[in-house]
Amino acid sequence: MTDLHRLSIRELSEGLAGAKFSSRELTEHYLKRIAKLDTQVKSYVTVTAEQALAQADAADAAIKAGTATALTGVPIAHKDIFCTQGIKTTAGSKMLDNFISPYDATVVAKGRAAGLVTLGKVNMDEFAMGSTSENSFYGATANPWNLGHVPGGSSGGSAAAVAADLAPFATGTDTGGSIRQPASFCGLTGLKPSYGRVSRFGMIAYASSLDQGGPMAHSAEDCAYLMNVMAGHDAKDSTSIEKDVDDYVANLNGTAVKGLRIGIPKQYFNVAGLDADVKARVEESLKKLEEMGATLVEIDLNMTEAYVPTYYLIAPAEASSNLSRYDGVRYGYRAENPVDLMDLYKRSRSEGFGAEVQRRILIGTYALSAGYYDAYYVKAQKVRRLIQQDFLKAFESVDVIAAPAAPTTAYKIGANLSPVEMYLGDIYTIAVNLAGLPAINAPVGFDKDNLPVGLQLIGNYWSESQLLSVVHQYQQATDWHTKRAAIAEENA
Ligand code: GLN
Repeated sequence: MTDLHRLSIRELSEGLAGAKFSSRELTEHYLKRIAKLDTQVKSYVTVTAEQALAQADAADAAIKAGTATALTGVPIAHKDIFCTQGIKTTAGSKMLDNFISPYDATVVAKGRAAGLVTLGKVNMDEFAMGSTSENSFYGATANPWNLGHVPGGSSGGSAAAVAADLAPFATGTDTGGSIRQPASFCGLTGLKPSYGRVSRFGMIAYASSLDQGGPMAHSAEDCAYLMNVMAGHDAKDSTSIEKDVDDYVANLNGTAVKGLRIGIPKQYFNVAGLDADVKARVEESLKKLEEMGATLVEIDLNMTEAYVPTYYLIAPAEASSNLSRYDGVRYGYRAENPVDLMDLYKRSRSEGFGAEVQRRILIGTYALSAGYYDAYYVKAQKVRRLIQQDFLKAFESVDVIAAPAAPTTAYKIGANLSPVEMYLGDIYTIAVNLAGLPAINAPVGFDKDNLPVGLQLIGNYWSESQLLSVVHQYQQATDWHTKRAAIAEENA
């Protein structure tokens, strides 16, 4: 079969179980596509061909033996932020260019146990700091819809790999939008779960109170399959919740769109930088949901102006603390010929970290310093609580909240926005992480340059099933998620 990469996860699962094709055939198919097309997309940092084929053979044996799960033999790409035993894990940084993890992240281990085949590790902004994936030590990844544009970030490699059909689905992480924004830029569905739903063990830390892993794929149905593997309590992560996991696949039709109350925050649709095409496509998608029976309710989210300053204090503060472990001594990059210990620390960190990471360490260290702690960090934590309360108040009268995922479509590679311009692009995503809520992006059309536009739906705590279900039903009634970039249509 030449079009295996066009099959949904359900079709892959059924095809493997029914012996229509083997996992080896499917894995070889993807490896061939990667070899041929990823020279242009540049989504993979590491391709683990040999190991993938061994895993595929083991999967085929399990299918024959009748011990397979729904996903046994299905290939996946992991964001290079998830530790993989015996395979390089870089977090997009020179600091970890030589790092081979001695253990698997829980998400990776769960995938392995479910029989997933790891194709490789995909590119990202260094330590997940960024919105374009250009902050990677390994260079920029291209947006499959237009190779001169970025795929978004920080999970840009995951998004580009899936959008170019170089992996059926991928893991991502979202600290302030890094699943939803690249999904939006690449025409994909991506779910950021509630904080604590997915284990962070073995997921390299950026800002620990905000980081959360989740699935990126073409459709909500595909995401649901991956959520069934990723979600759940983990004794190795003290912030993961001891709460039953839904069967996300079984619940795909579990929420009625008829009668669903969708909140439309006034403040969100009056943001200065909101692109006219993005606004129009999002409004059209909401109209469609209204036709399907949902009610649109205008709401207020009065803290909108505080999102960017609050996030850009808390995230760098936590990052500066998390990244202090990269000292040139324990593991990772070490500067050559240090004259003394201070020189070793200083040069290892200034040579090993890129500019954006250094900027955030400086901002974070400043915000946490004795003289400024109360004025900045403590103040930001108080505002964070107000932002959360704003959402909780809204959820008293609506079921979900609608927003764009990003104010624009994908930027040009090398657009060279100032840090502040770049940070303002996170306006629609970061509050969700500050509040710990779940949110999903779904593709809802294109702008005048044929770049994808995304609709974001934000849910109350633990409403992942509801979000997946609403998007699934939208996708049954529309075909945006089936559109493919020209490069994805190419055969290897
Ligand atoms: N763009 C945001 C940042 O640079 C979010 C990144 C993320 O979610 N990892 O911090």
